[in-house]
Amino acid sequence: MPHIQVLDQVTIDKIAAGEVIERPASIVKELVENAVDAGADSVTVEIRDGGISLIRVMDNGCGIEGDEVRSAFLRHSTSKIRSVEDLTHISSLGFRGEALSSIAAVTRTELITKTEDAQFGTRYVIEGGKEVSLEETGAPNGTTFLVRQLFYNVPARRKFLKTPMTEAGHVQDLLMHLSLSHPEVSFHFISNGQEKLRTSGNGKLKDVIYSIYGREVAANLLDIDYEKGGLRITGYLGKPVITRGNRNFENFFVNGRYVKSPMISKSLEDAYKDFTMQHKFPFAVLHFHVNGEEIDVNVHPTKMELRFQRQQEVYGTVYEAVHRRLLEPELIQKAEVPD
Ligand code: ADP
Ligand code: MG
Repeated sequence: MPHIQVLDQVTIDKIAAGEVIERPASIVKELVENAVDAGADSVTVEIRDGGISLIRVMDNGCGIEGDEVRSAFLRHSTSKIRSVEDLTHISSLGFRGEALSSIAAVTRTELITKTEDAQFGTRYVIEGGKEVSLEETGAPNGTTFLVRQLFYNVPARRKFLKTPMTEAGHVQDLLMHLSLSHPEVSFHFISNGQEKLRTSGNGKLKDVIYSIYGREVAANLLDIDYEKGGLRITGYLGKPVITRGNRNFENFFVNGRYVKSPMISKSLEDAYKDFTMQHKFPFAVLHFHVNGEEIDVNVHPTKMELRFQRQQEVYGTVYEAVHRRLLEPELIQKAEVPD
């Protein structure tokens, strides 16, 4: 048997990166969530080749102090929580302090950042987890990440990437969800030089829906705002006349996070049953506002699935909220022609 050895930090980070970073969309998710956590109200994302060769994320948030840039890239370094008790009332999107170290471990990453108070910005280059340079530079307030050549040093993982087109699709889906959960942030998404998405950041969810899904959907929405037992549901339902052939038009957010939830889908679809044909799925953008203690966000590193403490009650509340709304008399069972 070979001797037992503790792995060096670069290797540890590379392995850990596998938990967080599966594909370009995972990197975009982490960087955009950081931008939102930094208070940005404008975020531009640009990718080339599905994000495999380049991801650029630019925000106008608070920036990182020059003398904290290095530590931001250390594993388990975060400005967002201090202790495990904080986990029960997290308001920020990130909190594990794993993203930047993971991204840096498997790409060539460049960061340019400046806080409002600083006279100069900082440019930091780190490749495969190893620092290349750190220097002062002129920069606007905010932060820009340039992430190049995903998995250039992990061929085993590079093999599992799909075509640039498929990867770009994942990034686009992700940005749609992020825009729907943050109407107050203006998102701009460019893929291979082409504009794919632009939202105004005016805070109106309906306008974001319009930007993403177009006129027909935006003209056939029912607003919803329902509260019961500490659970508040807000957002929009599509009128039954605009039901769809698949589940891709069901968007759920819990305390601002996009989530997949078979339970919520089931409840929503059950509530639509009396109003639609079989094998049709509703359009919905539903935001669930719930006390942080009612949910466990710590279920999975990518934080897509989360667990409610009281699943059955949530099922019932969603059903009731949706079914009642669909029964309201003002609802005309006819498509409105957009003007
Ligand atoms: P986490 O988001 O879990 O704290 P990250 O590895 O994603 O961990 O980021 C580490 C730290 O770097 C953050 O806690 C934050 O202080 C800082 N940071 C990262 N991205 C940005 C950004 N776009 N603007 C300002 N600060 C940032
Ligand atoms: Mg983060």
